Amino acid sequence: MNTDVVVIGGGPGGYVAAIRAAQLGLSTVCVEMDRTLGGTCVNVGCIPSKALLDSSHHFEFMGHDAKTHGIALADLKIDVATMLKRKDDVVGQNTKGLEFLFRKNKITWAKGRGTLKSGNVVDVAGSDGTTTSYQAKHVIIATGSVPVELPFLKFDEQRILSNVGALIISAVPKHLIVIGGGVIGLELGSVWRRLGAKVTVVELLPAILPGMDDDIVREADRVFRKQGLDIRTGTKVTGGGRTGDGVFVTTARASGSTATTCSLRSGGSRRSPGSMPRRSASPSAHAARSSSTPSSGRTCLTSSRSGTVFPGRCSPTRLRRKASSRLK
Ligand SMILES: Cc1cc2nc3c(=O)[nH]c(=O)nc-3n(C[C@H](O)[C@H](O)[C@H](O)COP(=O)(O)OP(=O)(O)OC[C@H]3O[C@@H](n4cnc5c(N)ncnc54)[C@H](O)[C@@H]3O)c2cc1C
Repeated sequence: MNTDVVVIGGGPGGYVAAIRAAQLGLSTVCVEMDRTLGGTCVNVGCIPSKALLDSSHHFEFMGHDAKTHGIALADLKIDVATMLKRKDDVVGQNTKGLEFLFRKNKITWAKGRGTLKSGNVVDVAGSDGTTTSYQAKHVIIATGSVPVELPFLKFDEQRILSNVGALIISAVPKHLIVIGGGVIGLELGSVWRRLGAKVTVVELLPAILPGMDDDIVREADRVFRKQGLDIRTGTKVTGGGRTGDGVFVTTARASGSTATTCSLRSGGSRRSPGSMPRRSASPSAHAARSSSTPSSGRTCLTSSRSGTVFPGRCSPTRLRRKASSRLK
């Protein structure tokens, strides 16, 4: 099929480009392989994380600040399943809104994985096994990024979580270790801290929020510490893994050869087995169990309570561009 523009990727980069191209009068096809439009931001990033921040903010207000308004609340509880359902509803409204905008602007959503061939041909392999070819005057590649895992902490999305798993934890973990003090780690750490988890943030650099204005960093650091986040800057994660039901992370001071090694440990909340769908909506059951295993090195934090760990830095160095491999 011939078309003016093919956009590969239906995230914020891709859908905005597609809508604008269509508004300029170009026949436009947007190739998206996920079940919904919106990419990371709408499905497993900005939008769901803000929905959870909103919910956890209300919870914290009720628990800590409401009394200063003369509002007394007895027996305050968080229903995580309802909170996650609301988050999924917010995401659903956004993805449906994008489908509406595609229809309104007469953009074809080619559902499947796009492969760029020579001569501006894009093959789209659908999940039903069929392949459709588009011959385009212009091709825009907006295939986004995927989280990078540490070699010794491969995502299992049960205890060792990417942003996808961190958005669907179905019970408040007792202890969450966040590797990387960037925006994603801090905002999701903040969500679970407000809901009652102990949260330890390990950041390699001397300060959180690398790359941000110093004044903002100082203020954010103060606010997050006040909120109860245990922030350990200048600290390098040197190893880690699963220990039965738990997770351990070993760390060392980032500078100096006489670094002290310490170990952060936590038992884990378990998601029910099964692969983690990118768009998962349903929280699965957690079975929180105690765990305490021996470790080498000085123990900085030992927990026999449930917990989990996820890398949380949002920066180009952590979100490896995967455009070329995702196009194959
Ligand atoms: C928890 C979290 C919170 C965030 N909060 C914010 C925030 O508050 N503000 C902010 O500005 N940013 C935030 N971000 C970052 C933001 O999500 C990204 O910057 C943004 O999604 C990048 O958009 P993109 O279109 O480049 O890529 P993506 O959103 O990753 O979209 C790429 C799309 O391309 C599709 N794709 C890839 N390869 C192919 C292929 N071969 N064929 C077909 N489709 C393909 C993918 O399925 C995906 O849908 C957050 C991220 C996370 C994880």
